Amino acid sequence: MTSKPSLTCEALLKEASSRIESDSPRLDAELLLSNITGLSRTSFRAWPEREVTNAHAEAFEALVQERVAGRPVAHLLGHQEFWSLPLKVSASTLIPRPDTECLVEVALALPLPPQASVLDLGTGTGAIALALASEHVGWRISACDAEPEAVALARENAVALGLNLSVVQSSWFLGLEPERFDLIVSNPPYIPDSDRHLEEGDVRFEPASALVSGSDGLDDLRLIISQAPDWLVEGGWLLVEHGFDQAEAVAQLFHTRGFKAVETRQDYGNRDRMTLGQWSSGA
Ligand code: GLN
Repeated sequence: MTSKPSLTCEALLKEASSRIESDSPRLDAELLLSNITGLSRTSFRAWPEREVTNAHAEAFEALVQERVAGRPVAHLLGHQEFWSLPLKVSASTLIPRPDTECLVEVALALPLPPQASVLDLGTGTGAIALALASEHVGWRISACDAEPEAVALARENAVALGLNLSVVQSSWFLGLEPERFDLIVSNPPYIPDSDRHLEEGDVRFEPASALVSGSDGLDDLRLIISQAPDWLVEGGWLLVEHGFDQAEAVAQLFHTRGFKAVETRQDYGNRDRMTLGQWSSGA
């Protein structure tokens, strides 16, 4: 008589973790099993011997196979948390990164008016704009993205979260109605097109338009920094994310364009990852 293999949570998680090659195989497996069963990740620790149904085990195995093939967990789940907000994600935008929460923290610490007008350039899922909207109901927040799918996704996320956000389709400033903002934020593409890490991990499944920006990765940052002053109030701020080895070049672009109070800040890994500056025309 053959005994049925035991489908306990722990057995499934252990087996899946041993096949998934990522920075966090156990976490990935737990998120996928939680998504299928509706059980919380803590319950896997509290009741490791709990059995799951055959149907759930099969559905879990299908997701594990996709994860083993490299598909990002966020794409398999269809959502990703950012600033404690559950955001819908799709293959048409960048998956929000935890490090970008540092950009939100820096933005929130700026001396801005209670009814600040803010623009998020290249918003993707809407992550940065929605995080700011969740903290400041009084701010007037606009966001743009060149990709129609991203515009639709950011709008959908805003509606689902009940947050006020105006999203328009525009490649950087090109399609915007003339306006001056107290703060412009952006996490633009900044990876050099020859960077080898584009062939590894989750980035293989994200759109190149959200990642890659010319031979030194700075094409979009150059454009944003050069045009931002036309869209900032006197004393307004520009805050951008960039690669850990681009801080010096980006700070130089801010200085050359005439920004004041130029500063670089670090991400959670203590890498130079954001630069900001204040616009003053000197008039
Ligand atoms: N930080 C991302 C990565 O290295 C890139 C994000 C971006 O280009 N804006 O995977």
